[in-house]
Amino acid sequence: MRMSELFAPTLREVPAEAEIASHKLLLRAGYMRKLAGGIYTYLPLAIRVLQKIEAIIREEMDRAGAQELLMPIVQPRELWEKTGRWDVYGEEMFRLQDRHKREFCLGPTHEELITSIVAQEIRSYRQLPVALYQIQNKYRDEIRPRFGLMRAREFIMKDAYSFHRNEESLDEYYRRMYEAYARVFARVGLSARPVEADSGAIGGNISHEFMALAPSGEAEIAYCTNCDYAANVERAEALPPPAGGESEAQPLEAVDTPDKHTVEEVAAFLGVEPQQLIKTMLYLADGEPIAVLVRGDHEVNEVKVANLLGATNLTLADPDTIRRITGAPVGFAGPIGLKEEIPFYADHAVMAVERGVVGGNKKDTHLINLDPKRDLEPLGVKAADLRLVVEGDSCPRCREGKLQLARGIEVGQVFKLGTKYSEAIGAVYLDEEGKTQTMVMGCYGIGVSRTMAAAIEQNHDEFGICWPVAIAPYQVLIVPINWQDEESRAACEKLYAELEARGIEVLLDDRNERAGVKFKDADLIGIPLRVTIGSKTLAQNAVEIKVRKGGKMELVGIDEAAGWLENWLREAQT
Ligand code: ATP
Ligand code: MG
Repeated sequence: MRMSELFAPTLREVPAEAEIASHKLLLRAGYMRKLAGGIYTYLPLAIRVLQKIEAIIREEMDRAGAQELLMPIVQPRELWEKTGRWDVYGEEMFRLQDRHKREFCLGPTHEELITSIVAQEIRSYRQLPVALYQIQNKYRDEIRPRFGLMRAREFIMKDAYSFHRNEESLDEYYRRMYEAYARVFARVGLSARPVEADSGAIGGNISHEFMALAPSGEAEIAYCTNCDYAANVERAEALPPPAGGESEAQPLEAVDTPDKHTVEEVAAFLGVEPQQLIKTMLYLADGEPIAVLVRGDHEVNEVKVANLLGATNLTLADPDTIRRITGAPVGFAGPIGLKEEIPFYADHAVMAVERGVVGGNKKDTHLINLDPKRDLEPLGVKAADLRLVVEGDSCPRCREGKLQLARGIEVGQVFKLGTKYSEAIGAVYLDEEGKTQTMVMGCYGIGVSRTMAAAIEQNHDEFGICWPVAIAPYQVLIVPINWQDEESRAACEKLYAELEARGIEVLLDDRNERAGVKFKDADLIGIPLRVTIGSKTLAQNAVEIKVRKGGKMELVGIDEAAGWLENWLREAQT
């Protein structure tokens, strides 16, 4: 391809909303353009990258025994009502009506649809297991579309689904998919780490996410420095602290804490440690008020709370609800003396606090000397793991190592779904004895467009993108110093033809631009190998080759150049 013909409009200035490298660079380097919030056109360079990622995914899915199909994006409401997700999906679902006022959605995912197809077509245990996948646009009206392709409203996903006779068959296939995922990301050139994940609203109980580690990642993961435990912080378990010393309990006492609001302010004012404070957080769980207690230096893990309650919707209580339940303004809630009896949950660490301090349900008032056993147990408090882990917590697996935190981009997720969808939709089969059984399911997603963005997050520098070889839009870029110079032009054309003949994807910068401009663009668009040809190199009968990642330069004889490049590319991919 010749640069003079390539449709890749570069930008000098990117909009301020582009905060992270991949968002900025995809716009600047002419890979994509925005249509509306979270909705983008992929330009020719991006399509080539996406197609390479998709080709790797297809190979690995096929190798794992999954078969490709393509389902409709537009899906009828009735199907989603069978599983209750027409309501559960809420505002994240794009909905539309046809001319007869029938309701549809744009598929955010395809569990319902694939399960209904399999339910109709598969009858016998002999037809199981079966695994099916597709690569297609997905639609989610995200609350905060941002970071370009990272959290888009229209994005490309590979979604696969497997159907089994029993849990053992699912377990075996889940393992296979997990390994296929590890291979996909390694081949793409990403450093991605599998972590234990919460399975969230999708259902099921076992799930892993593949996280591309990057400071710009929206997800936080906790990992052990001693063993291979790693989990999304939504999921990461906190061990209960060791039992406290049996110090003599003191009587509860109300004290004035005028104008002291934060944990630090109250602790300093009372002369106690922040760990002695207990925060009382009021939530609405599917509309019902509940209280969650965590230690002053900890934060509530809302995913754990929602899971414990089996709630689909957990939100912090509004000021009116708080006033009604506590009889006090926001900021003074405590477990003792509430105006309404509501369910109470306490994180394990709260139950080990000695001489605790809680809100007094009265403006500028706290209670001191709280003894959780004496004062909370009679209220029917339930203790559970309800907090976010913090750096330095003991590892819940090996118990010896300490947890560290890191940020990651979720590029894929695999789930064991069990029978949630097959039961709701009636995906059953006849076993050897002719008895009806419910199929057991797994599902497996990869964010294809997000993977492209994640590859940039992990592979860029101040000048632009440094594509991993396997997914670069072109492998080699030839840059003549002066396109008007006959001799240079002839040398470029010769090498260009030679590389094409060898099946190498090559770009030739045949524009009448200054060399400096061409070099800048070369760095920006990120082709792995740049070949510079000019009168100086030609005087030595050579070309200059620059490896984009790392910037290594080498002078190579003009007749050896094509072979050198081909070798380098082959080695880079093994
Ligand atoms: P997240 O937690 O980031 O919202 P999710 O758990 O909702 O993701 P899944 O339903 O597991 O996502 O979808 C499979 C894959 O699709 C994800 O692992 C991710 O790579 C990708 N993905 C999900 N939402 C988006 C989005 N809004 N934009 C781009 N890719 C996405
Ligand atoms: Mg997920």
